[in-house]
Amino acid sequence: MHKADKKRVVVIGGGAAGLEAAGQLARAGCIVTLLEKESETGGHVKNWYHLFPDIRNSDEVLKYLVRQADHGNITVRTGVTAGSLEKNGKSVIVKTSRGERIISDAVVLATGFDLFDSRRKEEYGYDIYHNVISSADLEVMFREGSVKRHDGEIPQRIGFVHCVGSRDSKVNNLYCSKLCCVTAVKQAMEIKKHIENARVYCFYMDMRMGGALYEELYKESQESYGIVYIRGKVSEVSDNIDSRLIVKVEDTLAGRPLRMELDMLVLMAGMEMSESGMRLAESSDLQTAENRFFAPADHHFGSNRSNMDGVFYAGTCTAPMNITDTISHARAVVADVTDYFRNINA
Ligand code: SF4
Repeated sequence: MHKADKKRVVVIGGGAAGLEAAGQLARAGCIVTLLEKESETGGHVKNWYHLFPDIRNSDEVLKYLVRQADHGNITVRTGVTAGSLEKNGKSVIVKTSRGERIISDAVVLATGFDLFDSRRKEEYGYDIYHNVISSADLEVMFREGSVKRHDGEIPQRIGFVHCVGSRDSKVNNLYCSKLCCVTAVKQAMEIKKHIENARVYCFYMDMRMGGALYEELYKESQESYGIVYIRGKVSEVSDNIDSRLIVKVEDTLAGRPLRMELDMLVLMAGMEMSESGMRLAESSDLQTAENRFFAPADHHFGSNRSNMDGVFYAGTCTAPMNITDTISHARAVVADVTDYFRNINA
């Protein structure tokens, strides 16, 4: 097919879903423009260290994704934000932050997620106490090869707080972010690899280990690493004169309140619809669900389709999902896009 006859697709977002979708669409013969708002592609994957369940180095996955998008049919443009989408006949026009109007035959939104801003749960003390950090901060420490308190000391007693910003009506997020339980298990084990004698506690509401080999990882974390799981909600965090954290927890299994002194507390921040996705939803009349993620046209048969003809979804802009599911969802969008092209040409 001559290049001018090929379908033009704009993929918005250069994280795992966007890179995979762009690569697959290019291999299916489409001419793809990939727009990424940051200065480089890779999304959240580039900030992570190891991935569950097989503790694979995230750089391996990142290299694969970048290779996927390294194709003659793909133009990657970084530092460009999509402002709105507009239908014009069969085309979809993407208006960008640079004042351009990119005319396309279809658009794939892969705007991903933002991590919940832990400052919104003031009672946990993020950004108030130096040694209260987020799961993302801990990954940076793993990447740098050293887990330390703010004063340079190696922490000996570390706690993980589950469900930060998820399953919480106070922040209007009733949904489960699905990944933070297994991330806590993985990170707790990694802490023990860094600091052999550390005592590690996870404060959870329920352990939701719904993925392949997650339950096995949970078991291993208890039997081989001695991670202690306490079913209970952290109600308050403060610090003492030695700058140790005082954590109050209601142990709901034992039915008694606990007061623990810890050196470091890690908040398992949940996933939320990205700000860039929200802006596009508002500017382009794309439907969102109760959880504020993009609402797919049909949960069973059309999770990649939107309410706008020619506009499709890939990955975590529709719901929390792990990288495996994100890549599968991004691959699936190709079937919907090519079906759509067949139908509009029929
Ligand atoms: S995956 Fe676990 S930590 Fe995350 S929201 Fe669900 S129950 Fe809470």
